[in-house]
Amino acid sequence: MGGAGVAIDTEVSISELPRVAAAVLHDTRPIRLRIRAQESDRGIVLIDGDLQAMLVLTCQRCLDEMSVGIDSSLRLALLSQPIEEDLIPAGYEPLVIPAGKVRLADLVEDEILLELPIAPRHADQDCGPLKENVKALKGSASKTETTTPFAGLADMMRDAN
Ligand SMILES: [Zn+2]
Repeated sequence: MGGAGVAIDTEVSISELPRVAAAVLHDTRPIRLRIRAQESDRGIVLIDGDLQAMLVLTCQRCLDEMSVGIDSSLRLALLSQPIEEDLIPAGYEPLVIPAGKVRLADLVEDEILLELPIAPRHADQDCGPLKENVKALKGSASKTETTTPFAGLADMMRDAN
């Protein structure tokens, strides 16, 4: 590895990411991004980072809103032109940027769009009508729990005698 590298720890607002903004119901807390960029001996810029986001999407089953957490790590090799795979350090995904410049927001946006569920759905117990069913089931279960299993036992024993 050559060079000391650059470390970035920042927050990106969803409003800066139009394609993500179009996919979410409303803006929530910003996306946390931490990356370290280093230039390899071969002049490849290697990016190591992670991003965390909490996005509000529409549940495709009950159409109510749901939060989806994204916790993703980035390992990218930025290239100005395609090179042989074996020149890229293992574990890094090549990303060709002809102009040699990359907007951080674009990287974040691409990564989030990759991670977004195509048809987000609540877990059964959290989903609209199903949630009501689960509640009803729980309600009836707790009702049976309030009747102590030994209630009436004394009566039964007396009857048996
Ligand atoms: Zn739902």
